[in-house]
Amino acid sequence: MSAFNPIRRNESLPAQVAAALYRISQAVNSMLRVRGEETGFSPAQIQALLFLQYARPGVRTIGGLADRLAIADATASKVADALERKRLIRRKPLAEDKRTITLTLTAEGARKAVSVEDVLADVEAAIASLPEAEQAALQRAAQAIVRRLQAAGYIKVYEMCWNCQFFRREAHPNDPRGPHHCAFVDAPLPDAETYLECPDFVPLEY
Ligand code: SF4
Repeated sequence: MSAFNPIRRNESLPAQVAAALYRISQAVNSMLRVRGEETGFSPAQIQALLFLQYARPGVRTIGGLADRLAIADATASKVADALERKRLIRRKPLAEDKRTITLTLTAEGARKAVSVEDVLADVEAAIASLPEAEQAALQRAAQAIVRRLQAAGYIKVYEMCWNCQFFRREAHPNDPRGPHHCAFVDAPLPDAETYLECPDFVPLEY
C-alpha cells in the first residue's frame, strides 16, 4: 500500500507527511502555472528566469538549466530558445572559458525575473504563521528529506556559500580577489559571489 491509499495514510505518519508534501508540490505547480498565465510564461520559463538570476555564472548553461529544472537538455534548450525569442536572455561565451556558452539575462529578462520571484510567497507566509520552534523543526526535516532525494538523483540542489562545507569566511580579508575562500575550487570568493547559487554546495551538517 502506498501514501495514496487512505487506509495506509490512516495508520502511517510517514505516509501522511508524504501525501502532504505531494499536495504542497501540486500547490507550487499551480502557483507557477497561474503566475505564468498572468505573465505569458510557462512554468519552466519562470523557473529558468529565476535560475539565471541567481545561479553562479559558470553554471548558467543549458546543462545547468536542465539539472536545476530536472529536465532533459533538449527540453532546456527549447525553454532557452523561447526566452531568447522574447529577448529576455542571450547566449554568450563564458569570459574564463570561451568554449562554454552561457545563458545571460538581458536587462528586460532581469526585470521579468524580479517580477515573478515572489511566486512562492504564499508558501512562505504559511510557514511564517507557524511557531518558531515548528519552523526550525520543519527546516531540519525538510533539509533531511531533500538530501535523501538529492542522493537518490531526483533533484540537484543549488545553494549559496554561507552554509557550505567548503566555505571559508574571511579566510584572507585583504586579498583584492575576495575576502572569502572556496575550498572546493581552492579560489578566493568576492562577497557578492557568496550569495550566488552553486551546484557544488554541500551543507555543513552533511
Ligand atoms: S562549493 Fe560552491 S557553495 Fe560551496 S563555498 Fe564553493 S562556491 Fe560556495
